[in-house]
Parts: sequence; structure tokens; C-alpha cells
Amino acid sequence: MVYRGVAKVIQPETFQTHDFASWSDLAARRDEPVIRTVRFDLRVPEVILLLRNDRMPVRSVPFSRRNLYRRDGYCCQYCGRKQPTSELSIDHVVPRSRGGKTTWENCVLACIPCNVTKGHRTLEASGMYLVTKPRKPDWSPCLTVTVQRRRASWEKFVSEQYWNVALDEEE
Ligand SMILES: [Zn+2]
Repeated sequence: MVYRGVAKVIQPETFQTHDFASWSDLAARRDEPVIRTVRFDLRVPEVILLLRNDRMPVRSVPFSRRNLYRRDGYCCQYCGRKQPTSELSIDHVVPRSRGGKTTWENCVLACIPCNVTKGHRTLEASGMYLVTKPRKPDWSPCLTVTVQRRRASWEKFVSEQYWNVALDEEE
């Protein structure tokens, strides 16, 4: 992004901004990580300033098996019991044979006994109830990124509160 001119590097100590040319002119310190190129060592930027964006890009949660398991908390949505992954399957609330779609709103986790009991019937016909109404989760995939190493320089730019937000744990 810096190379393309979409972002500038901020030097955390001085708050000075650099474009790619002026940043690559700076000599790397002995103890700091660098990106090695054929002709020079490029310091790894720790803080960048986006010149055109004003917020994090909003991406919707991908509809995946993994995310569906996370949304339902590894619990059968009919009996509410938490089960190991091997004991859970994805159930179409409105069965596919009745035109039910494979979507966030129509798919739930079901344990094997509940899935067998419900069979290919609708909710009404089976007389079963859902623990929660299935919907698209509103959590952002950005929040699930695990920060490997917090840079000391980030403290100046991001409030402490940001780091205390409860995040979903990755299995
Ligand atoms: Zn169940």
C-alpha cells in the first residue's frame, strides 16, 4: 500500500510521515526487523496512515461450515446440548426437498438424534422448536484475527479499550 501510494508510513517516535521513497532511504537499526531486497534493506513499518480509506473495510462473515459451528456454539439447535463436532450435522430447517435454501437463515446445527427425529419434515410437522432463530452473524471477520505480537508503538495510536474487547476464541 505504501509502495502504491495509498498509504504512508508513520514513524512512531517522531510522527513524521514517509512515502515509499523516503522510507526506503532510512537506514534500518541493528535490532529491528527488515524486509531484504536485492539492493537495500527496507524497515518493516509498524504504523501506516491510509490516505484514502477512513474506516476498516466491512466484510460480511463467509457462510462456511466452520462459521456455522461457531455461530451455533457447537450446540444442537433443537435440544440445545453442546456436542463434539463429530456428533453434529447441518440441518436445513425448511428441508431442501421443500425448497429450503442453504443459507444462514435456514441452516442450523443438529445432533444426530435430533436430526433423525426431525427427518425431512418442516418445523411445524415435526413439532420441534429451535433454541435460537438462525440468522447471519453480525461479528466481523476482522475481530477474529489473532494479534501475534503487539508493537509498543501501537499504544500511541490505538486506545487500550480496543485491546480489551472480548474476542471469540479460535479453536
Ligand atoms: Zn439435539
